[in-house]
Amino acid sequence: MRGRLWIIALTLISLFLSIQSFVYAQPINKSISLGPYPTGDRYYLRVFNVDDVSRVRVNGRDVLSIGYYQEREIDITGYLREGQNTIELILENTGGGWTYGYVLRKGGNVIWSDSCGSVGKEGCNRNDQTKGIVARHVINLAIQQPLQQQDRPPNVTSFSVSPREVLVGQAVRIGFSVRDDVGLQRVELWRKDYDLQGRLRQDWREIRRQSISGREFSGSFEDRPSEAGVYEYGLHVVDSSGKWNCERNSQTGFSPGVYGPIKVVVQAPAEGKLPKLQWPLVGELSERKILLSFGNDWTWGYCNGRPKKHTGIDIKASPGEPVFAADSGIVREIFSASKTYNWGEGIVIEHNGFTTVYIHVIPKVSKNSLVYRGQEIAVIANIEGPHLHFGIRKGGFSEISKRGALPQVNSRENIYCQNDPLFPENFIDPLSLQYEVNPLQPSKPMWPTISPTPQSPKPEIISDLKILEPGPYRVGQTITAEFTIQNSGNAPITFDVLTVGGRLKELSQKSWKLKVAALSPL
Ligand SMILES: [Zn+2]
Repeated sequence: MRGRLWIIALTLISLFLSIQSFVYAQPINKSISLGPYPTGDRYYLRVFNVDDVSRVRVNGRDVLSIGYYQEREIDITGYLREGQNTIELILENTGGGWTYGYVLRKGGNVIWSDSCGSVGKEGCNRNDQTKGIVARHVINLAIQQPLQQQDRPPNVTSFSVSPREVLVGQAVRIGFSVRDDVGLQRVELWRKDYDLQGRLRQDWREIRRQSISGREFSGSFEDRPSEAGVYEYGLHVVDSSGKWNCERNSQTGFSPGVYGPIKVVVQAPAEGKLPKLQWPLVGELSERKILLSFGNDWTWGYCNGRPKKHTGIDIKASPGEPVFAADSGIVREIFSASKTYNWGEGIVIEHNGFTTVYIHVIPKVSKNSLVYRGQEIAVIANIEGPHLHFGIRKGGFSEISKRGALPQVNSRENIYCQNDPLFPENFIDPLSLQYEVNPLQPSKPMWPTISPTPQSPKPEIISDLKILEPGPYRVGQTITAEFTIQNSGNAPITFDVLTVGGRLKELSQKSWKLKVAALSPL
């Protein structure tokens, strides 16, 4: 009886074990869906960890069959087509345990992988020993054309404005890159104006326009606000189908990020009176003939059918005559006065809050050099009707500083107008100012004034002051002033010499060496 119980128990155990092995003997059957992926990629399948035979079928074609311990990666792209694809991975076991391993790549990316067991070490499914087909993977891979190319709005991919602080009349440069998926048509520069207190003066509107084409374009605009205030700049880009990206540069098409509008502060040029300038030529203003006055029609340049207006004065002069800096400053520009005519060159000096320009000269200074008031900076060029064009402009240096004439009518299309602002912009009439005669170029001789000391017989001038070297004189040059004073008393005498050299207080010498060095008069 007892033996019988054992037999029943053993039968139950073996039955249980056979149920177990029956459960694990179920073949693996997996169905995997991948995609849809856009066309154009390559697909690679790696088969490894094989025990015993692995077969690969793509769309019903056998493309690979490898055996125990083998490993292979194949490019299956050629077997694939647009639409649905079926990749079958079939594993057959010929004896003992079985294992498999698969990796599917799309380009460099793994899009699916699976493996079971470890070949030669550990069989899959608890070392199942079933023979025949033991694992079947069916991958449904969908490949399709990308969505129809969309006609998206264009957008701004870079945007810069510099400088962010300028004086009225100075240029602001707006650089940009724009892009569109279909094609670009034009880019517009838009501006929003506030006063310096931040009150809105004018809302967004177009102020410049460029026609462009292609899918990408880089360029720039220039703007010169004519009034102090705060100005916001943005681009309004239009593509070939009329879609646009608004002036706030908001991103409506592509990355990268949003380039918002950029603000520029425009300050009025330094107000107030200019310092008393020094006359730029030998002698005095009254001795000179003015060939063309400030604001006269300048008939060498028309803008929209109207002559430009003269921004300076043309002072008659002789070739080779020295030209002097009207005030101390820095040479900001040396330029050719004309590309067409033999008109000599021009010099722009930036002073404290204003610039002066000297045209039709042969410069004796170089760009960026410091010059002092009264320094000889050039000589008059030998042109037809030789003269000095002398101009004065309020504000810091800009390209406008060197303009000899500016348009009197508005146009930004006409190339002859050079996008210049309207006359007079910040130029002022040089004849509205008073000048100091160049003290180194006296049109009148310098006389010493003698002041006798008290209780002393009056000293007498025996001979007039005589300057031995002939003029004109230059800063740094030594000149000799000769004179004779008779002092019949015992008390010392003092005297002043009216010159740039300063006050002299010495006795018992008959002649003096005066070094001409001072930059300002006594
Ligand atoms: Zn001129």
